[in-house]
Amino acid sequence: MTDEKLEKDMIASVHYTGTLPKNGEVFDSSEGRDPLTFLVGHKQMIPGFEREMLGAAVGERREFTLTADDAYGMPSDEHVVKVSREEFGDIELVAGMTLMSDAGPFTVQEVTEDEVTADFNHKLAGESLTFSVEVVELRSASETELDHGHVHGPGGAHH
Ligand code: ZN
Repeated sequence: MTDEKLEKDMIASVHYTGTLPKNGEVFDSSEGRDPLTFLVGHKQMIPGFEREMLGAAVGERREFTLTADDAYGMPSDEHVVKVSREEFGDIELVAGMTLMSDAGPFTVQEVTEDEVTADFNHKLAGESLTFSVEVVELRSASETELDHGHVHGPGGAHH
């Protein structure tokens, strides 16, 4: 099984570090944590990440830089919405804070007496991203996993 390569419908576990090429800042890393486990080819990852890792073997390390289009896309005004201040109840709102909602996380951009501007753009939208990735483990997905479109067991769903 040592000749397995990362490809569609396999379960891949990787260690990764993501940095911003513009200033070298680490925005995410699995170092010191469990590796990231995902089902290849089922849109669990940003598009460029899988494309750059295709064909990699266990133990192989790759480093690549993705443009924003291959990562989290460009920020758009369509994802910035105004919400009534009342919706937030007693929460103390400060510009720049991140909150969770049914529609996903957003950043509080501006707060007035009766309105809150919520920015739903991904924090990394518009950014080029550099990844250093090492393949830790590869296995074939089970039929149920392919059916569900995600990983079961360690690093995945338990149900
Ligand atoms: Zn499932």
